[in-house]
Amino acid sequence: MTMNYLLALDQGTTSSRAIAFDRRGRVAALAQQEFTQHFPKPGWVEHDAQEIWSTQLGVARECLRMLAEQRGTARSSIRIRAIGITNQRETTVLWERATGRPLAPAIVWQDRRTTARCEALRRAGKAGFIQRKTGLVPDAYFSGTKLEWLLDQVPGARARAEAGELAFGTVDSWLIWNLTGGQVHATDASNASRTLLMNIHTQDWDDELLRLFNIPRAVLPSIVPSSGVLGETQPGLLGAPIPIAGVAGDQQAATFGQACFTPGMAKNTYGTGCFMLMNTGSVAVASRNRLLTTIGWQGPAEEGGRRTAYCLEGSVFMAGATIQWLRDSLQIIERAADVEALAASVADTGDVFLVPAFAGLGAPDWDGRARGTLVGLTRGTTRAHIARAALEAIALQSADLFGAMTRDAGIALTELRVDGGASRNDLLMQMQADFLGVPVVRPRVTETTALGVAYLAGLAVGLWADGAAIAKQWSVDRRFEPRLTEPARRAQLTRWREAVARSTCWAPP
Ligand code: ADP
Repeated sequence: MTMNYLLALDQGTTSSRAIAFDRRGRVAALAQQEFTQHFPKPGWVEHDAQEIWSTQLGVARECLRMLAEQRGTARSSIRIRAIGITNQRETTVLWERATGRPLAPAIVWQDRRTTARCEALRRAGKAGFIQRKTGLVPDAYFSGTKLEWLLDQVPGARARAEAGELAFGTVDSWLIWNLTGGQVHATDASNASRTLLMNIHTQDWDDELLRLFNIPRAVLPSIVPSSGVLGETQPGLLGAPIPIAGVAGDQQAATFGQACFTPGMAKNTYGTGCFMLMNTGSVAVASRNRLLTTIGWQGPAEEGGRRTAYCLEGSVFMAGATIQWLRDSLQIIERAADVEALAASVADTGDVFLVPAFAGLGAPDWDGRARGTLVGLTRGTTRAHIARAALEAIALQSADLFGAMTRDAGIALTELRVDGGASRNDLLMQMQADFLGVPVVRPRVTETTALGVAYLAGLAVGLWADGAAIAKQWSVDRRFEPRLTEPARRAQLTRWREAVARSTCWAPP
């Protein structure tokens, strides 16, 4: 009997992973490999694009081998129906079409080398223009100024790009190019929406933006739906040609993997930072709280081809990182998971608040000069109170984002779906439900990023009929109901805002 699987390639910032899912959306095999981070100068972060490709291919092969071994069967009786690709977003690769060789190290999303260029764009009054077209803000985070930098700094690059000799791509494009042996140069709409070069309303590269960032069209990939067969892997790579049928940036894929298919559904991922995305349907909501507007996904085909779901996106800089700080800097816990028992050893924080503005504050405050603050200390404060305040800070920052999204979209959210390493913390999830005043729901499968792109691929090849079939598979591990009364919830949020106010504008200009 042939067994059918989907293979998700999850190319992250620190590791490449490959996960095989069965048709019920369960993890059947997983292989992972870390790769090298390069920090050549302060503020610069680079990856070797060849190492990204070789580790990604390596784990894909390893995953297939493990799958065959676990099922006690030959590789040939395992059928991979389709591949889905999800990736670290915005990271920028430039390569030579003739040879497939990268021209320079990949510039990672965290890289700040183009900050001055972005400040100049803001000073020149371009922020409004950029936001209207792209839903983004002029920031070094996004690909546009990274590609511009490469074209300016690599000798001869601009002329060669204009002559059509070079190819640009985010990591999805780079993997697609290599998987198809250079046959396909494409990116999906969700990744394209993070470049600063795409107009999210027309869903195409935008001539005015290309002029602003000085980018020749000849260097750009074509934009394809997130769900749909775009090509096949070279036969020699993975045993047999496999259709590549799903592509999405990591956060958008996770939103899909959480089955947030209808407007007003939202997910929050609790990792080093938090990433919250809310589906706003066919409407690209312009934020008044400096959240980002982004394309969630395009397709699937059964929803009428190119139908697009837009999302609002916001992030918390210091979430799990706050727990790392308790562990590594304060050394009041040994392992991250210890924070739960320590925090649970006291009934409340004793009115202590920790504002982890270690690197300033993001949405909705946007204060680069804010710094971390611990307020409300008394002679009775213990490390347990501080640990509890740290967990509350993660939930309170997420509640601020949630509030900003709700106001922007004019939609009252009815629940928040959660994933990521720190979502395993039950106390944190209960706090989150309490501070939001809506239930927090944790699914059984928390590999939502890989699962999301497996779903996008599976829909394209007919493994599932539609989103409804997928939504049925999505199953709850635990649901956390809010327990605070509404006045108590409001009082807590007000107190938190007072603590935040004490952390703002601290660092000298
Ligand atoms: P990333 O993908 O950003 O590396 P993960 O999803 O792997 O993050 O989650 C790891 C983060 O979650 C770390 O910052 C860690 O401090 C935090 N973390 C892990 N377990 C817990 C826990 N039980 N309670 C709170 N935070 C946790």
